Amino acid sequence: MKTLILEFLVRGAGRVPSPCCGKDMLVRDTKNRKAKDQTGQIKIYNIRRLQCTNCQSLHHELPDLLIPYKRYEAECIESVLTNPSSHIVPADDSTLSRWHGWFHQLVDYWVGCLTSIMVSTNQGNIPLDFTSKDSGTALQRIGRLAGDATGWLARIVRPIVNINFWIHTRSAFIVQ
Ligand SMILES: [Zn+2]
Repeated sequence: MKTLILEFLVRGAGRVPSPCCGKDMLVRDTKNRKAKDQTGQIKIYNIRRLQCTNCQSLHHELPDLLIPYKRYEAECIESVLTNPSSHIVPADDSTLSRWHGWFHQLVDYWVGCLTSIMVSTNQGNIPLDFTSKDSGTALQRIGRLAGDATGWLARIVRPIVNINFWIHTRSAFIVQ
């Protein structure tokens, strides 16, 4: 039986400055990126590659529902992190525990990125003790910065990707 695969075109509205230099970007080409949703359905997203006119770096136009280097949509990973025992995401145990490890490994880094974005864009006064390790669980600290309503994971990923501070951690999980 042939699996039905849904395809989507991802096209941002308006011009976004390059994450590297804050300059214009030109469309170079497009590429297909696969991701699974909450039901296990595979979707293909056709994503544009944009090139910075200043330093020539390439950037992918990432939609909010994807996370760089992850093969499931952001809402799947968010749902597992928020409801570890009651989610319905059809991923195997090793994938699930990798997501928890990934989140706990990076959460302090994300809090630091978001705090510095908020400081540099003058988004109010941030009580720094709110984000310290002593002030609640990782989820609670992220919630104070991005809110805890549905979509919080996408809300923290996008601004960090946009300033080019997203880091790839695959190597941290390879067991030798
Ligand atoms: Zn650049």
